[in-house]
Amino acid sequence: MDRPRIRIFDTTLRDGEQSPGCSMNVQEKLRLAQQLDRLGVDVIEAGFPFASDGDFEAVQRIAASVRRPIIAGLARACTPDIDRAWQALKVAAHPRIHVFLATSDIHLKYKLRITREQCLAQAREAVRYAKSLCADIQFSPEDATRTDVPFLWQVLEAVIAAGATTVNIPDTVGYSMPEEYGQLIRTLREKVAGIEKVTISTHCHNDLGLAVANSLAGVQNGARQVECTINGIGERAGNASLEEIAMAMRVRPDRYAYEHGIASEQLYSSSQMLAEITGVPVQPNKAITGRNAFAHEAGIHQDGVLKNPLTYEIMTPQSVGVPDSRLVLGKHSGRHALGLRCQQLGHDFERRELDEVYRRFVVLADRIKRVQDSHLLELIHDVNHGKIAAQKFPPAAAVPVGFARAASANAGTHASAAAGAHESHAMTIPASASPIPGAISFAEHHTEQEDYLWGV
Ligand SMILES: [Zn+2]
Repeated sequence: MDRPRIRIFDTTLRDGEQSPGCSMNVQEKLRLAQQLDRLGVDVIEAGFPFASDGDFEAVQRIAASVRRPIIAGLARACTPDIDRAWQALKVAAHPRIHVFLATSDIHLKYKLRITREQCLAQAREAVRYAKSLCADIQFSPEDATRTDVPFLWQVLEAVIAAGATTVNIPDTVGYSMPEEYGQLIRTLREKVAGIEKVTISTHCHNDLGLAVANSLAGVQNGARQVECTINGIGERAGNASLEEIAMAMRVRPDRYAYEHGIASEQLYSSSQMLAEITGVPVQPNKAITGRNAFAHEAGIHQDGVLKNPLTYEIMTPQSVGVPDSRLVLGKHSGRHALGLRCQQLGHDFERRELDEVYRRFVVLADRIKRVQDSHLLELIHDVNHGKIAAQKFPPAAAVPVGFARAASANAGTHASAAAGAHESHAMTIPASASPIPGAISFAEHHTEQEDYLWGV
């Protein structure tokens, strides 16, 4: 009942926006911030006000209009940055200044060209100054995971004494391993004077694909805030993905007995909104929010999911806002799945009619890899009118795999609702390596029993 609560700090609008191709204008940032509010994040890092007038305006407008969450603005450890951040943030209901300064020797020597002593003094002074303006101060020792650990303790003790209320431990370069990152958080809790008065935060990059694992290791060792982004966007390989962090805790409370405030049914629409705003599509196999995250193509999987979703699904699509799982119709699909999709498209076939639809479907699937609702509707139409469907379709190389709005509108079902959201990201699939359609006879490969033997 009294499980520790993890604060979700979303930095899609700051770190995320720094990723190539992901810049957003003020209106877009405002729209996304409103969605992040609906999603239930605790902190929105709205931007880096000193960086540009656009960033300043975005932070200010978000601070003025999004009132529930804490609104954070980033600032380097210097007076002009902190002043600019405060100017943008002071209208917020819950403002936070986020001050950062690199602490690793490599950053001190080559980037900042200051000594450790200068770094320590600058961090302390910056936090003290920020605290004179705003009660809620977060400090980040940039490149913390490559910082000499006793020096990191010293810096953290200094900024806590100067008034920091959250200390964030960035794995700026995505270099840490989960045990190592967890151990670092544990050591800080044990060694840093005053750490029990502040919140420890994680900020992990995904250069080795470990951002989520590292963040969770941090939480298990005492971190109570996780910095993350929608779709995991961010510098280089990105940040820890918000949706993965949130659902790991929801799906495995036996391992991660923590609470958080994310309204998980808003995850899919948040992901889609970001993709739509930036024009950067979500990778199809992205956990939680990718197009294929709840798709089952293999016949045996489809059959299992139709009988009981728990056979192949560890969470329901509805729980993350995908209306339902989408059974992908490809050449490995069985009659059962095809019949159901036809029903959802408004066509309830008798067994013999369905056999005919299935026969033509298999010939088509051999050519175009993935059969969309729009294709299926044409095929059904042709079967109903006795035409040879397969001849109508273009060669595989040119077949778009975007989803058709017409099919979505007709169906009103799970598949189409989810598909509709993807249609702006249509793309073309490569030519199928399949041999000439029909070279292997239907009877040889598509008896009903075979439906359940493929794709295990
Ligand atoms: Zn970062």
